[in-house]
Amino acid sequence: MRQVIFNESINELEVHPPQIYQEFRSASYQSAHALNRQEFTFITQCPACEDDTIHPAFSIDDFPYYECNSCKSIFMNPRPTPKQVHWYTHKSPAAQLRASEEYQQVMQSRLTKLAVYRTMWITSLLMRMAEQRISLVDIEPLGSALVDSLGKKEPIDALMVSPRFITPLTQKTVHRLDDVADGSINVLSAFDILEHQVSPVAFVHQTFKKLAQGGMLIITTRAGSGFDIQVLREYTPTLLPLEHINLLSVEGITALMTNAGYTIEEISTPGQLDVQVVNTYMKNHNNHPIPPSIAYFLEKRDGYAHENLQNFLQTNLLSSHLRAVGSKKELSR
Ligand SMILES: [Zn+2]
Repeated sequence: MRQVIFNESINELEVHPPQIYQEFRSASYQSAHALNRQEFTFITQCPACEDDTIHPAFSIDDFPYYECNSCKSIFMNPRPTPKQVHWYTHKSPAAQLRASEEYQQVMQSRLTKLAVYRTMWITSLLMRMAEQRISLVDIEPLGSALVDSLGKKEPIDALMVSPRFITPLTQKTVHRLDDVADGSINVLSAFDILEHQVSPVAFVHQTFKKLAQGGMLIITTRAGSGFDIQVLREYTPTLLPLEHINLLSVEGITALMTNAGYTIEEISTPGQLDVQVVNTYMKNHNNHPIPPSIAYFLEKRDGYAHENLQNFLQTNLLSSHLRAVGSKKELSR
């Protein structure tokens, strides 16, 4: 039996406890439809690799998505403005629900577990750094669990940028990454937020500017190159338009980070749920888009075979839960 380690990938189920997830889903759709679509902008280049051969892929709830011919990233197009995304993320009914006490309570134990896993990951990365005291910025966190947990283990000055919950007064926060001095940060963490950046290119350039020499950008994101999204496309049950403006591929994210000047230290897809997601969808829908070869495999082979496939997906960068680390390395090495 494969050892199940709590990691980012468990996120998907854990972060979506049914009782509150359905409510959040409705709030998210309602908020997305409240936006004035006349203000959306059509882009002609891939938001990851900037190639200009893109084509329509599918729609999610009436929001069209395109795909890049070159890196195979998938993205909403036309796209909302930064102001609209800011409203959705911080002020919309979906944002209010996410910040509510009820939601925070349901999520508390999950965010704490996730923080334990992320603390282990970050601690292992910090071992590569020579600094005595680390300056860390967590961008748009959903809670303070990570910063709290890291603070107990490491000599860290932690700052939260644009948090998506009501922060206690004791926590250091700033509104925008722009407010942080250039070249001042050792670690920038961006957990599950690349998905809703209007311009991923601008985002990675900005983070690069804010990092000190030798600093690291840590990213987790939903990848469009992942098995469940590749198989189910617009039917992938956990995709919500305004939460997932970008579903970049492994190749797209590699190009994005490299073009901004990053040296890629890690790119992996430790997801554990792709096969389960596709299998559950197939069981619940008579009419499904799953290719016969995959449907046959899922129906006729046992759980052990399913696990083998998931292991294969992880090893070959084919799960939709991606994590990446880029370092700002020009002088050392
Ligand atoms: Zn591309």
